[in-house]
Amino acid sequence: MIKFPLTELLDEQACYEWLLKILHPKGLHCPSGHAIPAGQAPHDRQRTPIVKYKCRECGKVFHIFTGTDLSGSHYTCGQIVLILRGFLQGQTTQHTAEELGLDYGTLLSWRHHQRRGFAHLINGNLPDAEAEMDEMFQNAGEREQKRSNSRPTKTTRESTQRQGTMANDRPPIVGTVGRNSGQIRMKVCDNTQQITIQPQVEVTTLPTTTVYTDESDAYNRIPASGRERQTVCHSQREYARDEDQDGFCEVHCNTMEGIWVGLRNFLRPFRGIHKKYLYLYVAMFEWAYNLRWIDFDFLRRLLFPPSTYLPT
Ligand SMILES: [Zn+2]
Repeated sequence: MIKFPLTELLDEQACYEWLLKILHPKGLHCPSGHAIPAGQAPHDRQRTPIVKYKCRECGKVFHIFTGTDLSGSHYTCGQIVLILRGFLQGQTTQHTAEELGLDYGTLLSWRHHQRRGFAHLINGNLPDAEAEMDEMFQNAGEREQKRSNSRPTKTTRESTQRQGTMANDRPPIVGTVGRNSGQIRMKVCDNTQQITIQPQVEVTTLPTTTVYTDESDAYNRIPASGRERQTVCHSQREYARDEDQDGFCEVHCNTMEGIWVGLRNFLRPFRGIHKKYLYLYVAMFEWAYNLRWIDFDFLRRLLFPPSTYLPT
């Protein structure tokens, strides 16, 4: 996970350098893409260290935030770093505004920009060519549970697997993991009927994605949406198989199985989760899990308007 330069937060120059590395990994360029020669004197030093440069080739005047969502903002570099950190840690806008002494309305409008970009990155379909989908059942009633939510043994898992519903206090959590991106999407569902599961397939994967699932009927509609489905038969203890005999077991749901272990461990200390609020705990886990994949490229996408973002 990305490190925020906390020890240097009071140093405006250090925060500037950090943001420069995120926004302009190949060095500062004018909006037309002309590089600024090393050592060129700034055109305007009024907001040091956010100095303006004048391009010698096209004459455009610009600074580090030109072309980003921050181009018109008056935040200092230190404030921007802290705002980003607060946002990625799930802090409320109110909290961040109070902590940094910023105007709530102004911060909120910028966070709306960010959230749009973020939703696009975190909530959208996984970009992966291959994804695994599976479901897990979590004991969650309407009052405190007497026993901890330990993972059932294989045999009880088989017998309870198809019966878990929101109504009988064992709501299913449907999960998707992208095999390449490593990102996950999770949703607490009322049941595991096709009509419930299929929309989750379609909002978490692309029409071209190959979806790996177990043999559950819940996923039977996947091919109708144009997606390829590969199955592994858990009930026959076939947890992985080498379809094309290249020595690599591509038909499996092991990645998702591993994530369920993580989710169960995460949920265990919260005894007696009310089923109405289970989705909040699951969202928290999903959030924390996906945060592991945040890097400079992610932050760069967050700060540039989606239409102008160019991969580096
Ligand atoms: Zn230029």
